[in-house]
Amino acid sequence: MYDVVIIGGGPCGLSTALSLQEKGISYVILEKEAVVNSIVNCPLDMRFYSTSDRLEIGNIPFITKEIRPTRTELLKYYRVVTERQALNIKSFQKVTEIHRDDNSFTLQTINPKGITSTYNARMIVFATGIFDNPKKNGVTGEELSKVMYYYKEGHSYYGQNVAVIGGKNSAVEAAIDLYHSGAHVSLVHRGETVLQGIKPYLIPDMRNLIEKGKITFYPQSSIKEIDSTSITIRTLNDHDVQIPNDFVFSLIGYRPDVDLLESIGITFDPLTLVPSFNKDTYESNVHNVFLAGVVTGGITNRVYIEDGRFHGLNIAEEIRSRL
Ligand SMILES: Cc1cc2nc3c(=O)[nH]c(=O)nc-3n(C[C@H](O)[C@H](O)[C@H](O)COP(=O)(O)OP(=O)(O)OC[C@H]3O[C@@H](n4cnc5c(N)ncnc54)[C@H](O)[C@@H]3O)c2cc1C
Repeated sequence: MYDVVIIGGGPCGLSTALSLQEKGISYVILEKEAVVNSIVNCPLDMRFYSTSDRLEIGNIPFITKEIRPTRTELLKYYRVVTERQALNIKSFQKVTEIHRDDNSFTLQTINPKGITSTYNARMIVFATGIFDNPKKNGVTGEELSKVMYYYKEGHSYYGQNVAVIGGKNSAVEAAIDLYHSGAHVSLVHRGETVLQGIKPYLIPDMRNLIEKGKITFYPQSSIKEIDSTSITIRTLNDHDVQIPNDFVFSLIGYRPDVDLLESIGITFDPLTLVPSFNKDTYESNVHNVFLAGVVTGGITNRVYIEDGRFHGLNIAEEIRSRL
């Protein structure tokens, strides 16, 4: 029996564990894949927008050559913190079910070999993030293997017809990288422009590529159908356009997987998927169940590592007072 099970070994799950550990509270982190799996899924060459100091957890310094870290540097930092602080994490343990007993919880997990395990804890912290569950377009062909929801690198698409769907940072960065890797890129976005609300340093490059016709931009358009050799989009004035296509990157955002949280009674705002929780203690509407990190922001994109890394401080304080 642990005092606490933390579900999710992302940056905010790890920082919560550090806070609990500091207060002598017993815990285990159950992570369904690798440690900081959402960072693993980021583009291989990515440099984070946040400066390194704003991604630190547990006051452990993160010194990098440039002011902003690369994906590789950030992965290494969280790995070293996990090891040096001897965090109690069980990777590749997906929590599938939670049952409430009188004064505790029983959690079922499954690993990639199909082996199930049981854990017991007095309290739970959900630090499950939102990046496991890509938003879908709801169109025919979306299930084809050529349609991908995470962008890793561009070289593999050299000489290929690639459509990128979306208009925020991830889509714009992928479209630029694909173009520079020799792909023929179409960028499909439901808005009028992709030049607003993105990282400032992307704007001149993107503007130039669109204006020179290097990337074919379809504004105010949505994807209508995908098949093995083309995509059909619906453009302004309900005009359908068929584009030859080998690969699709659908990068329109992510939404939390709410099923597990709902299964024990956590409620959500139906529009934003922001869960109900106390802003001081981060306790959800379910007694002894807490929320940490990006999951607290639903689909609002208002919570990042920068702020989510501090949630564990309040949570550990509250849990200490209950033990
Ligand atoms: C391309 C990109 C760039 C970004 N740049 C920045 C940036 O510059 N600055 C910044 O602050 N943020 C940035 N972010 C956001 C940042 O990556 C996330 O905010 C961060 O990963 C959230 O941390 P978290 O611990 O709350 O959730 P996550 O890191 O998503 O961790 C949740 C973990 O829970 C696990 N999990 C989920 N369900 C279960 C289950 N049932 N059982 C067990 N484990 C489970 C997942 O596998 C995952 O590892 C970026 C994100 C992306 C995609």
